[in-house]
Amino acid sequence: MKVSVFSTKPYDQQFLELINNNYGHQLSFYSCPLTPDTINLAGDDPCVCVFVHDKLTRDVIQALHNKGVKLIALRCAGFNNVDLKAAQEFGITVVRVPAYSPEAVAEHAVGLMLSLSRKIHRAYNRVREGNFSLNGLLGFELHHKTVGIVGTGRIGTALAKILTGFGATVIATDIQSNDTCHQLGVEYVSFDELCQRSDAISLHCPLTPDTYHLIDEQSIELMKQNIMLINTSRGAVIDTQAVIEALKNNKIGYLGLDVYEQEEHLFFEDLSDKIITDDIFERLLTFPNVLITGHQAFFTEEAMTSIAHTTLKNISCFEKGESCATEISADDAAP
Ligand code: NAD
Repeated sequence: MKVSVFSTKPYDQQFLELINNNYGHQLSFYSCPLTPDTINLAGDDPCVCVFVHDKLTRDVIQALHNKGVKLIALRCAGFNNVDLKAAQEFGITVVRVPAYSPEAVAEHAVGLMLSLSRKIHRAYNRVREGNFSLNGLLGFELHHKTVGIVGTGRIGTALAKILTGFGATVIATDIQSNDTCHQLGVEYVSFDELCQRSDAISLHCPLTPDTYHLIDEQSIELMKQNIMLINTSRGAVIDTQAVIEALKNNKIGYLGLDVYEQEEHLFFEDLSDKIITDDIFERLLTFPNVLITGHQAFFTEEAMTSIAHTTLKNISCFEKGESCATEISADDAAP
């Protein structure tokens, strides 16, 4: 099938081209995102392949429909960037990569936790400057701490497995519990109770109207003083301004982010010789107890291989007229 692949970085092309040897699709790569201005690049290709920052709004979907696009193949799990109702209305099928390597994201969340709890990000810089003082580097152990997981789907469950191995007490909140977590001894509690009891909270729910700014002034108020907050889900699950206030008054003692509400203006690009005009993001960077990575939790060799396989298999399924288990419909859209 002819596929226009948008928002392509060299590593996307590398993995997709390699794995495409097994599938034989005709892939055209574009580094720009899919927007109303770039839609024409798709020519008469019946499939567009997109990533997390491509905004598939109603207008974009209608324009794709007018060009004859029949399939949107997401190279990611989250689909909050797609107007699924519009896709259904215009008869465009949407497929995604629901699970590529939940461990990739879970391990990254743990990496953020450990870096912050042991202040490894600060120690790294100190040692390189010949400063071997331990003043200010006092850490804490996850062992016997209570970690709250918001959303025990694939990634939340992978994280629960790791944390129980650390000897942490894991509590969780979700709109549906899962058996693996029950077997691990995870205790399901309300969101408010999770906020009150946790020493660290890690977010693994999707971004929906229900989870938009789930972490806000009110929920932060419920949390313990000096809480650790980790977000590898979607930026807008957190009200960043409220979090900054909580960092300023030491309510939040540790903040690890792999996602940020306005990240599409920053992440995945080299802006090292540019002036960053996002004052909220720049303020976050001034705190010594904040560690930010640029949406790289998924970025492992294993996950990239799996993403390429599932994406190309999804496209093959659609081409053959077979039903595709990874298809998402308007019913999956948040109310
Ligand atoms: P999943 O669908 O397997 O799990 C999500 C869980 O959240 C489900 O159990 C669901 O019931 C639960 N949930 C939904 N609404 C909730 C609510 N209001 N409160 C509590 N729980 C709720 O998804 P996953 O594969 O575990 O991924 C989770 C999220 O992680 C994705 O939606 C995506 O946004 C994000 N993600 C980030 C990266 C990254 O690189 N940073 C990579 C992959 C996924």
